Amino acid sequence: MVEILELHPGMMDCNVLLVLDGDMGVLIDPGTGMNREKLLGAVGAGLNGRSLGGLILTHEHFDHVGGTGAIVEEFGCPVYGSAETAQVLKDGDPMRSGAFLFGSDMDPVEGVNVIDDNLEIGPLGFNIIHTPGHSPGSISILERSSRALFCGDLVFCDGGVGRWDLPGGHLPTLKGSIRRILDLNPGSLYPGHGRSETGDARAQIESSYLTIRHL
Ligand SMILES: [Zn+2]
Repeated sequence: MVEILELHPGMMDCNVLLVLDGDMGVLIDPGTGMNREKLLGAVGAGLNGRSLGGLILTHEHFDHVGGTGAIVEEFGCPVYGSAETAQVLKDGDPMRSGAFLFGSDMDPVEGVNVIDDNLEIGPLGFNIIHTPGHSPGSISILERSSRALFCGDLVFCDGGVGRWDLPGGHLPTLKGSIRRILDLNPGSLYPGHGRSETGDARAQIESSYLTIRHL
């Protein structure tokens, strides 16, 4: 039985999501890491004795990936992301990560594993869908047994859409990516900011698409 916890270590952080099944946990996006002790404490409490089998990054922006080094140091787990996200972390790129917007440095992180389509971590199985537009490295992550979709900053609940004016953002690409996750028919939707939707996830994605359809 898959359980999903939403952690909120600090004001500037994205939604930090912990996916649990059996004795295994997988973290999706660690947030900025600017609240290091709160982040590590919240993840440790959420794991509650389970081991952390991996960290998956939805995209390369600082408010989603800044805490990666802290999580790896504390839990020693592998990190997964798109090729673009892996490169931005390797370079510690302040522009493409948007770290400059937070007045922070992006500490380089080596060894992010590039994922393409499927990822198995213990009892948890994920499908990886490339959904650029908000950023070149954006992916959406579908947990197969629960059909929970983790979409990063592609769409948000109640008609929200990720911004496309940051480096590498592109509106037509964003529209195509939203259509791609519509076709997945997810059972629930966990965006990178704001609330999640455990009821009609498809309706949420449709309303986001309507927001930008004519732009
Ligand atoms: Zn973002």
